[in-house]
Amino acid sequence: MRYDVAVIGGGPSGAVAAAILAKAGLSTVLIERNFDNVKPCGGAIPLGLIEEFKIPAELIEKKLSRMKARSPKGRVIDMTMPNGYVGMVRREKFDRYLRVEAEQAGAVVVEGLVKSISHSGEGFVINTLNDKVPPLRASRIIGADGANSKTADELHFPPNELKVIAMQQRFKYTPSIQKFSDIVEIWFDGEVSPDFYGWIFPKADHLAIGTGTEDHKHNIKALQKRFIEKIGITDKPYLDEAAKIPMKPRKSFTQEKAILVGDAAGLVTPANGEGIFFAMRSGKLGALAMIEHLKHGSPLKNYEKEFRKLYAPIFFGLEVLQAAYYRNDRLRESFVAICADDDVQRITFDSYLYKKMIPASWPVQMKIFSKNIYHLIKGS
Ligand SMILES: Cc1cc2nc3c(=O)[nH]c(=O)nc-3n(C[C@H](O)[C@H](O)[C@H](O)COP(=O)(O)OP(=O)(O)OC[C@H]3O[C@@H](n4cnc5c(N)ncnc54)[C@H](O)[C@@H]3O)c2cc1C
Repeated sequence: MRYDVAVIGGGPSGAVAAAILAKAGLSTVLIERNFDNVKPCGGAIPLGLIEEFKIPAELIEKKLSRMKARSPKGRVIDMTMPNGYVGMVRREKFDRYLRVEAEQAGAVVVEGLVKSISHSGEGFVINTLNDKVPPLRASRIIGADGANSKTADELHFPPNELKVIAMQQRFKYTPSIQKFSDIVEIWFDGEVSPDFYGWIFPKADHLAIGTGTEDHKHNIKALQKRFIEKIGITDKPYLDEAAKIPMKPRKSFTQEKAILVGDAAGLVTPANGEGIFFAMRSGKLGALAMIEHLKHGSPLKNYEKEFRKLYAPIFFGLEVLQAAYYRNDRLRESFVAICADDDVQRITFDSYLYKKMIPASWPVQMKIFSKNIYHLIKGS
């Protein structure tokens, strides 16, 4: 049998894509290397995503509307989202749920690590390391296999350039760390991360604490250790996890017969490292373009055009922000100072929750612009 589409990788981007393809009546196979995979991830997702993909309430372990930003000198800005919340999910449950949704929609879900993809006639042949899975034939491919995408390598897509390495540890709640259970904390502190940030994300029964860095990858364990010491936690973690975050879209993530979605395409925003929203949105946009392509012959390139049209301004804005403010502790100090402004908080939260650039009035724009200039000069 030849499938219409093979989706490689059963994380959020692949599972969403497979469900949409199958619902549209295309024969779809979803190939995941390990059904028990635990993706290293903070699991923070915005309200807009929960609403759009109708994520069931039982998967949202916490709804957090308070957030603290901490500066290198220990200044703390306590912020409250007036119109929404960050939802905390646990990836092992979340990914499994999305794969079940894909299966219920009619996709064939198989377990196997994809080791090679070759062109064959009008389509592809995919081989996995699982002896029980025969070579799979498909007319089209969606590569959803994460930052180190095998699909991208096998099909010669341009490289995933910018990669942060991120480490996270999970701590069961004990009386001494219970105080962190209701608030998101973001640490902008060069000792915790010289070029990214550290986070404390509360889940139902544990705290997830992590940090990331682009230029100090060899030092990631020492940075994480220092972070835990600074927070004052003496408990032992029950899980250590680490993975790469690709924070720049590939130069191109579509070909004539194949596309990449999610981390495989590099679709994680700079500055905050947010990827689940863009994984699921790109999975959806990619699948819709694939349906148009297979049913009406439209080019797959439309997917990439649509994604860039919707999200390139957000990627650009956050890239500028990271380049401007994450360079040293004086600039990070200024960045946290700017976060104290009510208008900055409102615009940031509204944009985060629904990924739409919310226009501000001219006086507000001028005020924020002047504050930025003042702080950038001061910090430099
Ligand atoms: C430490 C850390 C913390 C993060 N925190 C957040 C956060 O709080 N919020 C947020 O929005 N984003 C966060 N991210 C980013 C987020 O995890 C990713 O952007 C998101 O998981 C991308 O989804 P995906 O489906 O594209 O890829 P993935 O989630 O990486 O899924 C890829 C899937 O493909 C499978 N696979 C890989 N290779 C093969 C193969 N050869 N054959 C078959 N299957 C294969 C994998 O097993 C996996 O299931 C974080 C990342 C890290 C590393």
